[in-house]
Amino acid sequence: MWMNRAKFCPACTTPLQEEEVAGRLRPKCLDCGLVLFKNPASAAAGVVLDRRSRVLLIRRAIEPYKGYWALPAGYQEIDETPQETVSREVKEETGIIVEPVRLIDLIFIPDDSRKPANLSIYLCIPVGGELCPADDAEDAAWFAMTDLPEDMGFHNRERILQPLLEQLGREAGESSLD
Ligand SMILES: [Zn+2]
Repeated sequence: MWMNRAKFCPACTTPLQEEEVAGRLRPKCLDCGLVLFKNPASAAAGVVLDRRSRVLLIRRAIEPYKGYWALPAGYQEIDETPQETVSREVKEETGIIVEPVRLIDLIFIPDDSRKPANLSIYLCIPVGGELCPADDAEDAAWFAMTDLPEDMGFHNRERILQPLLEQLGREAGESSLD
């Protein structure tokens, strides 16, 4: 994490010193007064479901969780909305063009070695493109929601897909009662 390694003020290049600011020790510039607040990053992931309720997964080509299957996801650029991030990341990693239809959840991911992040998770539908893994993905494929890989990166199965499957099951049960 760059914030942990920063030794010099990014504004005036004076060496930083740890000082208590707002209840925590934080790197502070004793010359210009700049304080480096450490905040989580923002990222977005797509749960892309096709007409047969299969979910689109990628096999990660990079650490962390290199070689594991995971949802297509990535960090938000400074000038993007979260919906734009998810559409871009899915296209870059899988070749599939999607439309985000609703926000499923917002979860805190504390265990990414690069930086903790708040992850917005969008339910998406495919609207075009062709399956073509690239960028951070060495493979991409559709999986039945009832036949997901056991061991998924970032605990995607336990944290995101199983709860979603249960929620969709409840919604289907409720609508059949009408
Ligand atoms: Zn400074």
